Amino acid sequence: MEDEVYKKYKKISKEKWGKDFKLWKIMFDGILIRAKTEPFTPATELLLNYFVNVGRSKMKGKPLIMHPFNYSPELFHAMGIEPLMQEIFSVGLAPLHANEFYIDITNQIGYGDNPTLCNAQRPLIGSYIQKMAPIPNLLFFLSTPCNSIATTYQVFQNLTGVPQYNVDIPYWNYDDPNSEFYDEKTLDYILDQLKRFISWLEQQTNQKLDEEKFKQTMIWVNKARENIMEFNELLRSVPCPVNSMQSGVNFLIMITSAGTENAVKASNWIRDQAAENVKNRIAGVPDEKLRIAWPYTHVFFDADLFPWLEENYHAVTIMDILGHYHVNPHGTSTIEKCYESLAKGTLDLSMIDTCRGPVEFFIDYLIRFVKDYKIDCIIIPIQFACKHAYSFLRVVLEEVRKEIDIPSLMVPCDPYDSREVTSETIRGRIAEFLTEIVI
Ligand code: SF4
Repeated sequence: MEDEVYKKYKKISKEKWGKDFKLWKIMFDGILIRAKTEPFTPATELLLNYFVNVGRSKMKGKPLIMHPFNYSPELFHAMGIEPLMQEIFSVGLAPLHANEFYIDITNQIGYGDNPTLCNAQRPLIGSYIQKMAPIPNLLFFLSTPCNSIATTYQVFQNLTGVPQYNVDIPYWNYDDPNSEFYDEKTLDYILDQLKRFISWLEQQTNQKLDEEKFKQTMIWVNKARENIMEFNELLRSVPCPVNSMQSGVNFLIMITSAGTENAVKASNWIRDQAAENVKNRIAGVPDEKLRIAWPYTHVFFDADLFPWLEENYHAVTIMDILGHYHVNPHGTSTIEKCYESLAKGTLDLSMIDTCRGPVEFFIDYLIRFVKDYKIDCIIIPIQFACKHAYSFLRVVLEEVRKEIDIPSLMVPCDPYDSREVTSETIRGRIAEFLTEIVI
């Protein structure tokens, strides 16, 4: 990063964002220090600006809405509402283990424990109690993918007294009339709810949705989707043109900034880098030997796990379930098509599409992924708190094994708390699996 750019952000970090943004600012400073020694890419710029925009929201009198990782924020950007993706904060602390202090406080006040509710959300409760978490003006969540989010958001609402809205995600297939799981009411059901949500946002923020602005937002969302779908295609190449972390950047781009021109620019840049590498046969992981499917979240407290797999086994993790953003681009020629695109994007977002219906949705997804990306083995870190995944993954892996006979490993751990199952134990189990079974 050039000195001038660093100084610009450093100056911003001295602004007064409000007491509840203290920890948020510490995170921003940490990202800035790291970015200082690296090339300044469109993705870095987008992330820094995201932290700045959220931090400045109250100073600027802009409404701030908090939402979980399973909702893309284009509607908020279209309405001039600043989106705060909650897990950027509560999970973003995990690589430094800074979330564990707040997990303990949450435990002390008697609010659940890891086997009952997920530590992706629970640290936020402790940090609210300690007055260290940003307090939004509005709260929003969806019924999928888990009851942990649905339950924890009610606690956030009680603690903050902030108005809250939630949307129910329908169960059935919406786009394939030949599917045994098709229900023609699915799309209308979500569309209707999103329109009601817009009315609620209009009431809360005292402004009307500007349809022209919304249309432009949806044009940008769909352009970014197009870039990412092209990037996903490039990852079918052997060797894979990017390392194990790169697809996660696409998810970050979309979950913070979908619907902005900057998201188009950043996803374009990532796609172009991958294309260049494919053209020049450059591997993301030098001397690639193994291609791993990771159809679940990262072990967030161990940021070096993927690099460790790369260095020790020449193994590339193609995309984890969140990094595999695969919403198709849609037409945006009319306002009704824009609403439809918003609804389809909600149903197809990473993890929502695989977890919102019968187990066959997940099975089909994983079989397709394994075939498309020429996968050698499957690894899944799994925690009991993620009850839906915990209960169906064994069935999923068995069905995948029947269709394509590749080895798989489930590693029980809490991806957000290093004290449950340590990094050494997790790596030990993976090492044993790779050396004894896969290689
Ligand atoms: S890991 Fe599972 S329980 Fe935790 S937030 Fe994600 S889907 Fe919900």
